[in-house]
Amino acid sequence: MKVGVLAVQGAFAEHEEILSQLGVAYIELRNGEDARQDFDGLILPGGESTTQGKLLRELDMFEPLREKLSKGLPVLATCAGLILLAEQISNDSARYFGTLPVTVKRNAYGRQLGSFYTEEQFGDLGKVPMTFIRAPYVEAVGEGVEILARVDQNVVGVRFNNQIGLSFHPELNGNRKIHQMFLDSINPT
Ligand code: GLN
Repeated sequence: MKVGVLAVQGAFAEHEEILSQLGVAYIELRNGEDARQDFDGLILPGGESTTQGKLLRELDMFEPLREKLSKGLPVLATCAGLILLAEQISNDSARYFGTLPVTVKRNAYGRQLGSFYTEEQFGDLGKVPMTFIRAPYVEAVGEGVEILARVDQNVVGVRFNNQIGLSFHPELNGNRKIHQMFLDSINPT
């Protein structure tokens, strides 16, 4: 199994560290050639969605990744990554991959006070640590979207087929359960 990690901006190194700890091979995706390679799953890290979206287009990565996602490539998308996947962004006119039928709100907790830590139930994994950094949350979900986690009524974790979208950063607190769940969901071709 090999996982592609989008490595143009943001917190990708922390995801790579967890994959290494779990003994999973990965490739860093930095250009169009990387994005066209074969890999079994994709991690879209947190960072700045506008910057990531711009770089994806400039580096000729947007189309190959969009095509793979629309064909069902398993993906773990965190924070800015969730924004890239969302079908709708309620407070931004930008659209990116749009393969996850949810509406997200960017910087939903405000820009200044938007960073916090909590622990909440996540699917059937029990409580997991959750670090939020100027995070989006999910305002509405489409048909077939499973809600995996809520914090203060707001939806912060969803799954739709083999796409997992998270508001928070699961890679920052030394807990590997969510990555393991993602890897378990991948069927290597
Ligand atoms: N605020 C960022 C955005 O809107 C996301 C923040 C993050 O990924 N931690 O793109």
